Amino acid sequence: MRGFFVGRFQPFHLGHRSFVADITAEVDEIVIGVGSAQASHTVDNPFTAGERVEMIHRTMAGPENSTFVVPIEDLHRNAVWVSHVTATAPSFDVAYSNNPLVRRLFEEAGLEVRGVRLYRRDQYSGTEIRRRIIGGDPWRHLVPDPVASVIDDIGAVDRLRTVSERIDE
Ligand code: NAP
Repeated sequence: MRGFFVGRFQPFHLGHRSFVADITAEVDEIVIGVGSAQASHTVDNPFTAGERVEMIHRTMAGPENSTFVVPIEDLHRNAVWVSHVTATAPSFDVAYSNNPLVRRLFEEAGLEVRGVRLYRRDQYSGTEIRRRIIGGDPWRHLVPDPVASVIDDIGAVDRLRTVSERIDE
C-alpha cells in the first residue's frame, strides 16, 4: 500500500520527519508532495522546490528508504487539484492530511483520507524556524542534520534575511 502527504516543507523539520515516520509505519511506500512548488524567495516560502526535494531526499536516504519526493505546483482551481496531483505523483492508495480543504478535496475524489499526529507543534513549526533564522536565534536543533546542511550550502540564512528586508523611504 502507498500513502501520500503534501506540505510546503519550508523547511522540512523534525515534526515533518516524525509524522512521515508514523505514516511509513502504516504503509509500504510514501509519496511526499512538495506543495506550492512554484514558490520561492519569499519570507513564507524561501526555498525552491528543488531545495526542498533535496532536504527531504537527503533526510530519508538509506537502505530502508521507501519514499518518493515529487514537486507539485499550485493550481488556482481547487475543483481539479486532485486530478493535477494524481497526474503528477506516483499512484497512491490513501492520502494523509489534517488540512480541512485538502481532506475535503481528496474525499470528494473518492480517496481514503487519514489524519496525522502532530509532534511538538509549539517547537516544530516552519513559521517559527524561519523566524529564528531571520532573527539569528538557534534553529539547527529543530531540523534534521541534512536539512541544516542544505540551508548552509545554499546560503539560505542570507537569503531569508534579504527577502525579509523592507525598503524604507
Ligand atoms: P502547508 O502549507 O505545508 O501547511 C499549512 C500549515 O499547516 C503550516 O502552518 C504547517 O506548518 C501546518 N502543518 C504542517 N503539517 C501539519 C500537520 N501534519 N497537521 C497540521 N498542520 C500541519 O500544507 P497545507 O496547507 O496542508 O497544503 C498543502 C499544499 O497543497 C500547499 O502547498 C497548498 O498550496 C497545496 N494545495 C493547493 C491547492 C490548489 O492549488 N488548488 C489546493 C489545496 C492544497 P509547517 O509550516 O510547520 O509545515
